[in-house]
Amino acid sequence: MAERPKKKSWAEPFKIKMVEPIKMTTRDHRQECIKEAGYNTFLLKSKDVYIDLLTDSGTSAMSDNQWAGMMLGDEAYAGSENFYHLEEAIRKHYGYKWIVPTHQGRAAEHIISQLMIKKGDYIPGNMYFTTTRLHQELAGGNFVDVIIDEAHDPTNEHPFKANIDLQKLEDLIKKVGANKIPYAAIATAVNMAGGQPLSLENLRQVRSLTQKYGIPIIHDATRVAENAYLIKEREPGCQDKTISQIVHEICDLTDGCTMSAKKDCLVNIGGFLAVNDEELYKKAQNMVVIYEGLHTYGGMAGRDMEAVARGLAESVDFEHIKARVGQVKYLGEKLLGWDIPIIIPIGTHGVFLDAKRFLPHIDQDNFPAQALAAEIYVESGVRSMERGNVSAGRDAKTGKNRRPNLELVRLTIPRRVYTQAHMDVTAEAVLEVFDNRKRVKGLRFTYEPEYLRFFQARFEPAS
Ligand SMILES: *Cc1c(COP(=O)(O)O)cnc(C)c1O
Repeated sequence: MAERPKKKSWAEPFKIKMVEPIKMTTRDHRQECIKEAGYNTFLLKSKDVYIDLLTDSGTSAMSDNQWAGMMLGDEAYAGSENFYHLEEAIRKHYGYKWIVPTHQGRAAEHIISQLMIKKGDYIPGNMYFTTTRLHQELAGGNFVDVIIDEAHDPTNEHPFKANIDLQKLEDLIKKVGANKIPYAAIATAVNMAGGQPLSLENLRQVRSLTQKYGIPIIHDATRVAENAYLIKEREPGCQDKTISQIVHEICDLTDGCTMSAKKDCLVNIGGFLAVNDEELYKKAQNMVVIYEGLHTYGGMAGRDMEAVARGLAESVDFEHIKARVGQVKYLGEKLLGWDIPIIIPIGTHGVFLDAKRFLPHIDQDNFPAQALAAEIYVESGVRSMERGNVSAGRDAKTGKNRRPNLELVRLTIPRRVYTQAHMDVTAEAVLEVFDNRKRVKGLRFTYEPEYLRFFQARFEPAS
């Protein structure tokens, strides 16, 4: 007889109303597909993918409430009703005062970077994000990583690996001077570190240090609710707070945010910039009309803004976020149980395989994480993505690959899309590749784009 369960199982707080068929392909077909895609999972066609864990960006399933809201889209060019709903939702749940809608997160990054950064400035941040850093650099700034050292070590079990090293931050301020630092770029649930959270205590310390020097904080709020969930789980004194309270507390310690609503806010497209400073808001409002659209729609349709407003409210619901982060944990624990090297602690939005330990025989300049993502696809039809040497790009001064400490493959879980059975199949696919890892070979570029090369680069087997 099977072992009796101890009533510790949990289930998703929703049932499925509509389904989208997916289909398994043959290994031979996938071998052809990956070759044609230049061994880059971004260049695969989605019809050739079985379980798509490329990204959690814009891939969420919307709720019936969000779809109902889509029907209430007010597509007026100016003053759409849905904009005011969005503004109200942001003010209520995040607490920022002034909102500029954009088509997605990088557009908000573009506007804030152009408005605040002068040539030769320095922007400290807790590990880089690809589009964020590029917009800072395009505005003439230099990104400086001030995250704690533990974040660069995939085996370190620090519960808050997104924390800022206060010494590194203060050293930078002393070295370059506060007037060369337009703001600190602080992200919650740091993506490149493996979806690792920031603690409230650390953010409070960063706040008092930066306030001493008059430096504002711009928050990358893309996964703030997921970060808040891990604060509730891990940070002493936070167990009795609601997700909503924690999210509000985080936002209150910062001066504004850039947001990719395609993540936490459970929509397929959208984003915004929010700030508390009215002068800055007016400048951003003026700039958005050049690049995005009028300040009451940015790059979004009215219906899209309604979906963001409703999704934002759903994102801070405890049952939702517990199931969301819980599903990621389920997959991660399964892999850990088989001694497959992943980043620990398990993060918010995906499980990150440590390609350096997975494929120790491949040099980092032959892109082990890129090769591993390609192999997992060929093995199983599961699509993942590289977060390592290809994503990190080349150093602007030396022209060499940056060879980051973290060489990762991200199995990113879309919100409310896949079931536990899909997680089981994914885990077994990774195990199969792990058992045969010695036959995986490295890659070399056949085409390397200048900007954000990971999206469009092409490769071939190195030997
Ligand atoms: C996705 C993402 C962005 C960029 O947002 P887009 O909507 O893709 O333009 C910025 N920061 C983080 C942390 C992200 O995950």
